[in-house]
Amino acid sequence: MGPGPSDVHPRVLSAMSRPTIGHLDPAFVSMMDETKEGLQYIFKTENELTMPVSAPGSAGMETCFANLVEPGEKVVVCINGVFGMRMKENITRFGGEAIVVEDNWGEAVSADKLDEALTENPEASIVAFVHAETSTGALSDAKKLCTIARNHGCLTIVDAVTSLGGVELRVDEWEIDAVYSGSQKCLSAMPGISPISFSDRAIKKLSSRKTHVTSWFLDLSLVMGYWGKGANRTYHHTAPVNTLYGLHESLVMIKEEGIENSWDRHQKNHIILRDGLEKMGINFLVKVEDRLPQLNTVIIPDGIDDVSSRSKLLNDYNLEIGAGLGAYAGKVWRIGLMGYASRNENIALCLLALSDVLGIQK
Ligand SMILES: *Cc1c(COP(=O)(O)O)cnc(C)c1O
Repeated sequence: MGPGPSDVHPRVLSAMSRPTIGHLDPAFVSMMDETKEGLQYIFKTENELTMPVSAPGSAGMETCFANLVEPGEKVVVCINGVFGMRMKENITRFGGEAIVVEDNWGEAVSADKLDEALTENPEASIVAFVHAETSTGALSDAKKLCTIARNHGCLTIVDAVTSLGGVELRVDEWEIDAVYSGSQKCLSAMPGISPISFSDRAIKKLSSRKTHVTSWFLDLSLVMGYWGKGANRTYHHTAPVNTLYGLHESLVMIKEEGIENSWDRHQKNHIILRDGLEKMGINFLVKVEDRLPQLNTVIIPDGIDDVSSRSKLLNDYNLEIGAGLGAYAGKVWRIGLMGYASRNENIALCLLALSDVLGIQK
């Protein structure tokens, strides 16, 4: 019950143990088509360029910046935690100029500050932000931020690593241009795959680049020779065949549950956990409106030691929760309820184990 990887569903583990077939085997190729459809379903998009990058969420992040940022390009990046900082690092490494909009850790990205920054920087062409900041547990209003970006003529790059499957996300309706996620947070799957989706506007920008994408592996114009639809796929890299069996199974499961039901399950379980924690006198870091249901950041009560408490949870209860990051190290815990981990028995175990660790009499 940390910030990821979350529990992998047994069906996903069992799918991964099937025999490895060729990455151009007709059976595998039809599974690739289904995987694309499954990703389109959970992203709520009809984007043709929707695919899993064969590497973790960080590679999905890098794919977006490598393909869309050209040298000298001005990119507004909203930073309210660790992953926003990484976005900034990506912008500068690909030769862009980062214009930073900062918000306090634990708060959502401010729409007004973004609007001001775009008014002050009319040459900016891209806006980047994190939908669900896993480092703090804060959710930002992606729909609103994308509308502002669009009003200023900017494309958007959205980090949906922790949001996908756990909270409402509508790529087409919110007009997100480039989005990346991860397999190991709310999708109940193993780590190592990054689903991405690019809008037609993003593809137009990509195809009108003046310079080559500097990464060969992440250059989408080459990867799409393998992941583009249809039977005439060609070798780009050896796909992680068994890992993709796992992703495919997790997509089948979300389809069975229904994506909206998955969002609801995360919200309902968050409320049960929250009520239990509050009864023990534990408070949340993030204010109610900005809270992520799948990542509960709580303040460690006075007099309780962070490290020894987490070791006790792990050793005595086989339960992992996440530590605080940055200025919040030693001050907060991050309790994940992501994907298959978001279920009743985990909440019960977590509340029982915490009451023991905190010395609360039942
Ligand atoms: C986990 C995470 C990432 C990085 O994903 P990896 O699979 O660890 O590379 C990026 N952004 C956010 C918001 C995350 O939670």
